[in-house]
Amino acid sequence: MIKKITALSTVTAIAKGMGVTFREMMSPTVTEYYPEEPPKFEERYRGAHVLQRDENGMEKCVACFLCAANCPSNCIYIEAAENTSKLRISGGERYAKVYNIDYNRCIFCGFCVEACPTDAITHGHGFEIASYNTSTLIKRKEDMLAPIPAGAKAPSMEPEPAAAH
Ligand code: SF4
Ligand code: SF4
Repeated sequence: MIKKITALSTVTAIAKGMGVTFREMMSPTVTEYYPEEPPKFEERYRGAHVLQRDENGMEKCVACFLCAANCPSNCIYIEAAENTSKLRISGGERYAKVYNIDYNRCIFCGFCVEACPTDAITHGHGFEIASYNTSTLIKRKEDMLAPIPAGAKAPSMEPEPAAAH
């Protein structure tokens, strides 16, 4: 009796496995032509980081250090600075004067993205970052900043106009 049950479950498992095989044989073939054509990524693909700006062109990062505190690889380095009336870079009190990620150590876990309260740091789809020179794998803020949106002004370095009395 036990032998019969074992044989039946084996046949069922084989039939199930073959079912998957036949289903895959019938589905359309997907071929990527990289590097001739850019590869297609799923939206949630975790590629190189992007430091986002808001619709006015301001940097979203307010230098709160939460991403660095949550990074298990300790590969985020930030130096904060105060926004002033003459130099406003972000919408908050502070901005990241220096923001580096060391891709020698980053494991693309996404914890920094999860921790960010302003959605300033996100994963982009960039992936061509391999290098024989490890010093080129330290990406600076300038390498990661999103472009200024069309119609927005670059963060102002001019004094704010005096209020009319
Ligand atoms: S993806 Fe992970 S390892 Fe890489 S910088 Fe973010 S928290 Fe650190
Ligand atoms: S990227 Fe986000 S979490 Fe990291 S310092 Fe800037 S605002 Fe804070």
